[in-house]
Amino acid sequence: MSVVVDIKDVSKTYGSIRALDKVNISVEEGEMFGLIGPDGAGKSTLYRLLATLLVPDSGSLTMLGLDTVKDYRKLRSLIGYMPERFSLYPDLSISENLNFFASLFGVSTKDNYDLIAPIFSQLSRFPNRPAGKLSGGMKQKLALSCALIHRPPILLLDEPTTGVDAVSRSEFWDMLASLRKHGITILVSTSYMDEATRCDRIAMIDHGKILCTDTPERLVAGLDENLYNAVAPDMFRLLAGLRSMPEVIDCYTFGATLHVVGTNDFHSEEALAKLAGQGIDGADIYPAKGVIEDLFIKLTRNDQR
Ligand code: ADP
Repeated sequence: MSVVVDIKDVSKTYGSIRALDKVNISVEEGEMFGLIGPDGAGKSTLYRLLATLLVPDSGSLTMLGLDTVKDYRKLRSLIGYMPERFSLYPDLSISENLNFFASLFGVSTKDNYDLIAPIFSQLSRFPNRPAGKLSGGMKQKLALSCALIHRPPILLLDEPTTGVDAVSRSEFWDMLASLRKHGITILVSTSYMDEATRCDRIAMIDHGKILCTDTPERLVAGLDENLYNAVAPDMFRLLAGLRSMPEVIDCYTFGATLHVVGTNDFHSEEALAKLAGQGIDGADIYPAKGVIEDLFIKLTRNDQR
């Protein structure tokens, strides 16, 4: 496997804001690589640099051996870029948008139809509908089709599932998975931690810094926390009660439960007795299996305090 995206020591500031701080990432051919981080972490800035729309303050970004600053003209035809915000023309119909993007790259929509056919088949039911009148999920499918229209070897997708309903999100990831058989290297960013598991490898980013890079499985396996689920009829008092215990390192809402990170001195029976002493009855505490979100919280814990 060869490295097709190489980001070396990249920093970027906007005035006094350091959006990216010495970022290093390398992505291999055919990989689905996820950039995972909350709003403001620096994801879009990195995508704009890769899409040759911004220039780094320092460091370098190369794709397919071409430099994003020196070789930007050549690179633009080799990448498909789907920006975070809806980038299509809302007044143009689905087919007009596709034809427009195809003409920009000097191809016909028929040339690469095999690539977009599985995605386009869902859009072709209403070819004349203006893009602005599509649902969020459909808009993203059209944007993906437009980004693929020239069959780029590298696809840059900046938060493609933000604001999209859960079913469409899942469908979108299925589509990305199916694109891999065409050998396309995909860099996708998301703030939804659960989507990390759909990637071959991920990098977690926060405040412009890469926190870790590896397969999601290895990252979760390395999460060495003493982790528990906690529930009680009064979740608010449960949270306050657990947070007041010195043997609790951290306690946060996790779906319908709380996740509790304990020191080695944390024992669920003792914790339950302490909670009962505070009048918090009916609680249950049982071991939890850590996921990517727990890892992110762990890696950013010191920043939050
Ligand atoms: P993300 O995509 O992860 O939400 P961004 O790359 O958009 O992160 O933003 C990273 C940081 O840079 C944030 O603090 C954001 O407010 C700031 N930022 C982004 N674009 C600009 C800009 N054009 N001017 C000033 N600050 C910006």
